Amino acid sequence: MTAPGEALRMESSCAACGTRAQVVELVLPARSDAGDALQESATLGPFAQFLRGDGGTLVTTGVNGEAAFPLPTERASAVRDAIERNDWLALFAINQEWAPSWCQGCAAHYCNEHWRKSVDFDDGSYDCTWGDCPKGHRRKLDD
Ligand SMILES: [Zn+2]
Ligand SMILES: [Zn+2]
Repeated sequence: MTAPGEALRMESSCAACGTRAQVVELVLPARSDAGDALQESATLGPFAQFLRGDGGTLVTTGVNGEAAFPLPTERASAVRDAIERNDWLALFAINQEWAPSWCQGCAAHYCNEHWRKSVDFDDGSYDCTWGDCPKGHRRKLDD
């Protein structure tokens, strides 16, 4: 059992250079201010109240920088399962944006440096980010 406020995490490493590609962390809903990982984060702390879902918060770091997604209760146990089993495919299947380092074509992860990114704009405003892996597979990294 993991105590409230504690985080579950898994990491991937880049198939091209071996550096850490992605970290995902499930921050469980905190029942007290003590040990609230979200609150303690320098970048996410100020937004903690908006990032807290009933099922906790998923924090991803690496490709796409640092991002946080509030988790609804109905998603929380599947996400938790995936992280406990170190199962990136399961996480990718739930939401591709939660596993941005993963290339399905290669069945491998790539770091931020090894995804060649291109950004689409829709009428001048940001639409989405595409990535090409070193072997030329294309996926949407961020939407
Ligand atoms: Zn690939
Ligand atoms: Zn790399």
